[in-house]
Amino acid sequence: MELWQRMIRDSVHTVDELVDKFKIDRNAAEALDEFFQARINPYYLSLIKYPGDPIWLQCVPDKAELEDFDAAEDPLMEDAMSPVPNITHRYPDRALFLVTSQCGLYCRFCTRKRKVGDYEKISMKGLESAFNYLEQHKEIRDVILSGGDPLMLTDTMLEKILQRLRCMPHIEIIRIGSKMPCVLPHRITDKLCSILKKYHPLYINTHFNHPWEITPESSKACEMLANAGIPVGNQMVLMKGVNDHPATVKELMQKLLRIRVRPYYMYMADETKGANHFRTSIETGLNIVENLRGHTSGLAIPHFVIDAPGGGGKIPILPNYVLHHDEDKIILRNYQNKVYAYENYKDKNNPAKKNGDAKKVPSNGKNGKSKEKIPAKVNIKLPVLEEVEN
Ligand code: SF4
Repeated sequence: MELWQRMIRDSVHTVDELVDKFKIDRNAAEALDEFFQARINPYYLSLIKYPGDPIWLQCVPDKAELEDFDAAEDPLMEDAMSPVPNITHRYPDRALFLVTSQCGLYCRFCTRKRKVGDYEKISMKGLESAFNYLEQHKEIRDVILSGGDPLMLTDTMLEKILQRLRCMPHIEIIRIGSKMPCVLPHRITDKLCSILKKYHPLYINTHFNHPWEITPESSKACEMLANAGIPVGNQMVLMKGVNDHPATVKELMQKLLRIRVRPYYMYMADETKGANHFRTSIETGLNIVENLRGHTSGLAIPHFVIDAPGGGGKIPILPNYVLHHDEDKIILRNYQNKVYAYENYKDKNNPAKKNGDAKKVPSNGKNGKSKEKIPAKVNIKLPVLEEVEN
């Protein structure tokens, strides 16, 4: 048994352990175990500094989960968009392929807790029909392995899946969604890296939520993946008490870049049964982006998105930097609230043609210029910036 597998075996997971270690009332611990089992491996457990800290909140079951049953079990409608078991096909050219129900840690905010940890719901039996679906659907050029956590599979099993996918020439890109570099970095071994790098182009998206998760172990794991030529991106979920402050997110993003992980997405928390106590306001997220843009490298700024309830997919949201826009110009503000104008491009050979579409742009003046003027006074409501702590 490898070290990471022993750590899974030695995880906190029973009701007795929850009562002993975290002083959870026994009745609540039993109800929580029934609702969504715990798995806290010794490595992640060692990152907790005090009860209720950002690491604790992510992994220790909380009674609040039991008081929150209003939200949907499957807020992203993944099951409704599943043509065969283990596959969700929402976007035209890419598909989500669930390959295991197991994870190195069971996150209390998990959107997929209806399936995670349950061998029946994400079953190995579904793999064959999933492969058949991917073989037949030649429009799919990008497959995202997920679960559960694909890196919970043994090296042998994972390689069989990768080999099978690489027999499908239309699949150009393989992505693996894995929280292991963050929650159980010992899983990233030399042997695993030597397997993964045979199946390029292969990308990994991992999931760090707080700067305390960047440790010597997780740094080494991410650097090993990068050294194997694997671009590693990070998907952070915005959560109350965990990372809902601009300084925390800025520190996390900067530290991720230092370990060669590119911030990719920052999500608003999904409306998930048992996890609504993690949700923050949209303004909290916008304020965080406002305090990143211009204040640190653009590389450190993730796309801020809402994964739309009902299966609408990821939709980006931005602070409002556009103060006015008409066919002649756009008026913008920068991160310091200074206002700038940018003239629209006009094709001199075809004055009527602006922005590449003459038909859609109304033109009622000489040389194709609109008589409509930008109002002398634009009603500009500039946001108040919250100070970022350094
Ligand atoms: S690792 Fe991912 S799938 Fe597993 S419990 Fe955490 S969020 Fe859910």
